[in-house]
Amino acid sequence: MLANRVRSIKPSPTLAIDAKAKELKSSGVDIVNFGIGEPDFDTPENIKEAAIKAIRDGFTKYTPASGIVELKDAIIEKLKNDNGLDYTRDEIVVSCGAKHSLYNIAQAILSPGDEVLIPSPYWVSYPDQVILNDAVPVIVDTEEKDNFKLNPESLERHITDRTKALILNSPSNPTGFAYARETLERVAEIAIEKGIFIISDEIYEKIIYDGFRHISIASLGDDVKAITITVNGLSKSHCMTGWRIGYAAGPRDIIKAMTNIQSQSTSNPNSIAQKAAVEALKGNQDSIKRMVSEFKDRRDFIVAELNKIRGLSCPMPQGAFYVFPRVDGLYGKGFNGWSITSSSELSLYLLEEAEVAVVPGAAFGKDAYIRLSYATSIGQIKKGVERLKKACEQLS
Ligand code: PMP
Ligand code: GLU
Repeated sequence: MLANRVRSIKPSPTLAIDAKAKELKSSGVDIVNFGIGEPDFDTPENIKEAAIKAIRDGFTKYTPASGIVELKDAIIEKLKNDNGLDYTRDEIVVSCGAKHSLYNIAQAILSPGDEVLIPSPYWVSYPDQVILNDAVPVIVDTEEKDNFKLNPESLERHITDRTKALILNSPSNPTGFAYARETLERVAEIAIEKGIFIISDEIYEKIIYDGFRHISIASLGDDVKAITITVNGLSKSHCMTGWRIGYAAGPRDIIKAMTNIQSQSTSNPNSIAQKAAVEALKGNQDSIKRMVSEFKDRRDFIVAELNKIRGLSCPMPQGAFYVFPRVDGLYGKGFNGWSITSSSELSLYLLEEAEVAVVPGAAFGKDAYIRLSYATSIGQIKKGVERLKKACEQLS
């Protein structure tokens, strides 16, 4: 008999769709995969070399559970230079990816019955991580007309005496929208006044367009810094999804608790990947510029093309590598035995009829939308949108 807590969680839908797309591809189906959110670029050479050197030098043993000092110092420097944040080593913990950092934060601060506010659309793992820690996800809906930004009044209305934390994600997965200073200031004020933690997932901070400036909410003042745990990692910025390095910076007692959890569960993140992460943070950063410039061209192309499809409307995102078109204009239509009434049915239809993998908006709490990741070549994007157009326009 399994534990109660696992009965109410599901596998990560994004990972599940990617697995299905890869399975179809390996069985010879020519799938265009807009499903997974991971940069299609290779990890930069200097980072790989640092890992090879670490292996050659025999840096292949346990490290301190919370990460090596050299990496913590590189993170401290990064947070200071990029985000205007001052932290000391005992306020940093390195984990096996940002997903692991987020999970350990939940482990460290949540007690049974605590509520965690999650603006919708949300990244798929937030609610399930809360549930895995016997706490309650409270979804705060946001609207496309507000660029999917949290409305401060709505935030206030959802706060109860059980509310423990708010999860913010800017730039956002799945919408690509990002918060400007004004809203962050208002959110910070509310969190301070109500005494709730802010978990700020900033993993897409480097992937921003059109001169947008990313702001870390913790940098808005000492009182907000005292209640914020900032999460980041190298998966997206340095194309290191498989290396599994993420980190959290925040109040000493929370970081200490996360370190203890880690020392009793995973032990240290991979020693070789930690050395590679030092190079990623301290070495040449030009690869990020090149990647973002390529993503911007793809974003402009895919948004323009999707908006030409009858029944779809696609807002222009400010960051990340996702588009989140509204598709409920297609609901109620059908083709060849298909009857489309939800984002899940539409996604299945697109997979089977058009051989295009997308993620249903329902996985992010918004059934009127689907998510496409444009972290794939422009050739694949062209092929994919042509197929999408045909499949959507044959629905009647
Ligand atoms: N947060 C968000 C919003 C993400 O999209 C991802 C990507 N999987 C993560 C956290 C976790 O990234 P990782 O564990 O690879 O660092
Ligand atoms: N963040 C990526 C996505 O949303 C990776 C998948 C996952 O970690 O669930 O597609």
